Order: sequence, then C-alpha cells, then structure tokens
Amino acid sequence: MVDNLKAFDIEFSALSIGKHQYSFEIDDTFFGCFENAVITNGKLAVKMELLRQTTMLQFNFDIDGHITTTCDRCTDDFEWQIHTKETLLVKIGDHLEEEDVDVYVIPQSQTHWNVAQPIYECVCMAKPLRTVHPDDAKGKSTCNAAFIAQLEKIVTKQTKKTEVDPRWDVLKKINNN
Ligand SMILES: [Zn+2]
Repeated sequence: MVDNLKAFDIEFSALSIGKHQYSFEIDDTFFGCFENAVITNGKLAVKMELLRQTTMLQFNFDIDGHITTTCDRCTDDFEWQIHTKETLLVKIGDHLEEEDVDVYVIPQSQTHWNVAQPIYECVCMAKPLRTVHPDDAKGKSTCNAAFIAQLEKIVTKQTKKTEVDPRWDVLKKINNN
C-alpha cells in the first residue's frame, strides 16, 4: 500500500462495538495515490463515522470541499464544490449472499479495512459527468470570456460558409422553378 494512504487503514478488530468518529483531510497527495485517477487535485474534509457491529461494519462518510476540474465549455480548470454523504457496508464473514450485492465481504481473519479507495470513489461519484463554470449573481457565465469569444467567431464563420455553399444555391433554384 502507498505510505500516504496508511492513515486510512482502520483497525476495526481492535474497536469496541458501537460508533467511532474519524476525520481526514484529503488533497493532491491523496489523489496522486490512485492510478489513472479521474480526479487529480482537490482539498476536502472527510468526516467518517464507523458503526462497529459483531459481523458488520457500517461506514458513514460526509465529504465537503472542492476538486479541480476542467470546464466542459471553455476548457479552463476551476474549483468544483463537492458535498456528499455515502454509506458503505462491510460484512465480516465468508459467504456473500445474493441480496448483499452492495456489501463488501471480508474474511473473519481480516483485522484492517482501508477506507482510502471508498473515499476516493465517493468523491468521483459526486462529480457530475459534465462540469461547467457556474453563472454569477447576475446570471452571466463565468467562463473564460476570451475563449468563448474565439469559439463564437469560429461558429459564426462556419455559419457564413454554409450560407454561401453553392449547393444551397442550386437547391434554391430548384425551389424557385
Ligand atoms: Zn468555463
């Protein structure tokens, strides 16, 4: 395991039955630990409550902060706010029953459970497929204005090209006859 993720290793076997609270700060170093990461930069606070039961662990995550993402409209990087809550169940036992498809199962002999991957996945799930700069208070886009102006120029040019396309003239003549 990457050293930077050791802090996320929870020795649940040593915990008493009941609730236990944890908090983590995750940043670029954290995201850098994941191969082919969808998210590489960010700063988030993770509150985690672990409900330890005899044969079940319930993790409640409350994650708040921001990630750096690329705007799908103007391609600039910007900070995207994330606030998400997720619950994850881990069953201690050797049999995965059919109704337990959303439950992780770990063997009786296991003493630790690392929460880095689940936390990373929670953040990824909270990020929408498409992220664009939000509008300001006046309802005006906060996108990179220069890029958008450039883009509009290209679109206008293309529209003009279509207008003078000789094929359209031919069609017009046909319609006029
Ligand atoms: Zn933008």
